[in-house]
Amino acid sequence: MALIVQKFGGTSVGDIEKIKHVATIAKAAHDAGNKVVVVVSAMAGETNKLVDFCSALMDPPDPREYDMVVSTGEQVTIGLLAMALKVMGVEAVSLLGSQVPIRTDDVHIKARIQKIEGGKIRRNLKANRIVIIPGFQGINARGDVTTLGRGGSDTSAVAVAAALKADVCEIYTDVEGIFTADPNVVIDARKISRISYDEMLEMASQGAKVLQIRSVEFAKKYNVPLHVRSTFTGAEGTWVTKEDEEMENVVVSGVTCDKNEAKISILRVPDKPGIAAKIFGPIAEANINVDMIIQNISIDGFTDLTFTVTRTDLTQALEIVRRVAEKIGAKDVLTEEKVAKVAVIGTGMRSHSGIASKMFKALAKEGINIMMISTSEIKVSCIIERKYSELAVRVLHDAFDLGTETV
Ligand code: ADP
Ligand code: ASP
Ligand code: MG
Repeated sequence: MALIVQKFGGTSVGDIEKIKHVATIAKAAHDAGNKVVVVVSAMAGETNKLVDFCSALMDPPDPREYDMVVSTGEQVTIGLLAMALKVMGVEAVSLLGSQVPIRTDDVHIKARIQKIEGGKIRRNLKANRIVIIPGFQGINARGDVTTLGRGGSDTSAVAVAAALKADVCEIYTDVEGIFTADPNVVIDARKISRISYDEMLEMASQGAKVLQIRSVEFAKKYNVPLHVRSTFTGAEGTWVTKEDEEMENVVVSGVTCDKNEAKISILRVPDKPGIAAKIFGPIAEANINVDMIIQNISIDGFTDLTFTVTRTDLTQALEIVRRVAEKIGAKDVLTEEKVAKVAVIGTGMRSHSGIASKMFKALAKEGINIMMISTSEIKVSCIIERKYSELAVRVLHDAFDLGTETV
């Protein structure tokens, strides 16, 4: 008998028929003698609708009230799934984030889980019930509802799995696993059978939205095996686990693209010690993540600084940067929103050279200009014009021979 956490994304619970189908999957695991906890997202499109309601009234919306509104999509699906299971004769109970409770920090809109108290879940499991928990939501020390950032249900599921020391966390979604590239963009993308936490972490942070980054961080930290698989076919999906020798032999595992990037340039910044801290300090304090940073060589004691943030953070980041730029006597602040980040990722890069040059050549051949470059031990990523996103992903997927073999 195992303890299984199953997470179902928005498409998987998109209507009543689909919720009934999800109930059959949870029931099958329960009938097989396992203890089952299910984490669900809101119905597909529902969270977007709620976000739009907020923006229509107040832009940017009040963070506390935003969380109050957008967390409700998941309240609907936990109740419906519990009913679907009861109709099938299975004991089930839904619990809100505040009832579990799932405790988070105070940062509304992108809260981080601090602690999950497992007692109530365990008592219900012991009473042979399937426990259904909403993804994406938690409660802060003040008792206010918080949300975990878009795609946050993955993180809820993995955090619950870690807290309960579950044997596996199954992430059910609308594709059959993790592919060498987004299967909705690259037709011959190949399903990866096993991938390491580190590679998956890079893929997620480079835009493969199939798993939220924080969920992979949790999985790695607490060693929770993830099985990403389809809700709609019974096929074996992708296992995300600790690295092993076989994984090291793969040079490039995947190509990703992130269109949610924006570029900010500060022109003629005095090139003095402490300036970077003055710029990036307040940005960090506002909980805005800066991704790539480039500083040009300085001429006459001045330099240009360019960096990227997620597009959703652009307005807030710009406000801060304009204020600081004026204080430090920089000449101007420019932004570019029509950019995207493409990346190639693979553990084998640690021991293989030539990946970056192959990537640059492949992009150049299509006339795609590279604006910024960033590398890590297992990744090379480039900022390019957004209109070339899909083309760049396909070209790189081909250049590294990642596709399914054709006969
Ligand atoms: P859910 O609603 O189940 O959480 P998401 O839409 O968040 O699903 O994530 C699944 C989607 O992730 C897929 O439909 C696919 O388009 C996208 N995706 C991007 N990159 C990849 C990848 N490398 N492998 C699989 N899916 C990917
Ligand atoms: N419903 C939330 C969203 O759309 C959380 C999730 O689906 O993971 O972002
Ligand atoms: Mg998702």
